[in-house]
Amino acid sequence: MSVTVRVPAKVNVQLAVGAARPDGFHDLANVFLAVSLHDEVTATPAEELRVTCEGPDADQVPLDRTNLAARAAELLAARHGIEPAVHLHIDKAIPVAGGMAGGSADGAGALLACDTLWGLNTPREELLALCAELGSDVPFSLVGAAALGTGRGEHLTPVPAGTFHWVFAVADGGLSTPAVFREFDRLTAGTAVPVPQADPALLAALRSGDAEALAKTLANDLQPAALSLRPQLADTLATGTAAGALAALVSGSGPTTAFLVPDPATAAAVAAALEASGTCRTTRTATSPAPGAAVV
Ligand code: ATP
Repeated sequence: MSVTVRVPAKVNVQLAVGAARPDGFHDLANVFLAVSLHDEVTATPAEELRVTCEGPDADQVPLDRTNLAARAAELLAARHGIEPAVHLHIDKAIPVAGGMAGGSADGAGALLACDTLWGLNTPREELLALCAELGSDVPFSLVGAAALGTGRGEHLTPVPAGTFHWVFAVADGGLSTPAVFREFDRLTAGTAVPVPQADPALLAALRSGDAEALAKTLANDLQPAALSLRPQLADTLATGTAAGALAALVSGSGPTTAFLVPDPATAAAVAAALEASGTCRTTRTATSPAPGAAVV
């Protein structure tokens, strides 16, 4: 018997970043939107914990105990005093180290898959707490749809969202999230960083499903840091905008870039222009919101 869980990628439509806290983390006001780009995690009973991965980026995914899916299985097993005797297979479509929470998705997916396989029926609240232990973005991968994250991003409040169309440009090579935060600290040193707050106009645009209104409010405080580390991303952003995107931004810590488009036809045109431009490795089109981790 095995259990497969499907889990979405995310884009941050607003990522407001506060000054570094004494513990090194940053307070955030983080509006997450789950998009229809999925990894699948399959849990099968095994002699001992083992991770395998398939997909175009599979060679960049660690298969040892540092894999977030493996850590999720170990954490859940330890909590219940059992052995994590499971084979986790990840079918990976989410770009690796792309700022789309691919590792977080696999952590949430593995947690739900193992919980189901082992018949633990862990209450939702407890699963969410385990997700937060694994990483700041992992709780959102479990709940999906649209949510405002505060604290390190792990305190979630669901927010209503209409349907939106997206194109994602996948860059060559990843960007390390901690390195992007360090660059943010360097760029903002000596300035007064405002307390991060969700933008009411952005939340209203999300709720109404009005893409033009959302386009005017998209904001990512990590974008200058990502562009500073990877200046070529400016060309990708400009290419997508010239091809008809309503707005373009770096997704989370990058280097994936996200393009909000009015409809599927424009999505196809923007994707074609990005692929022809040579300013990215590949593209993906998707819609939001997408449901959170779910057994298939
Ligand atoms: P976020 O948007 O949450 O900052 P990300 O999308 O930028 O994350 P990930 O794809 O989660 O980045 O990968 C970041 C790093 O985590 C990778 O370089 C890899 O070494 C490690 N990692 C651990 N587990 C996984 C996994 N299951 N899938 C991908 N990367 C993983």
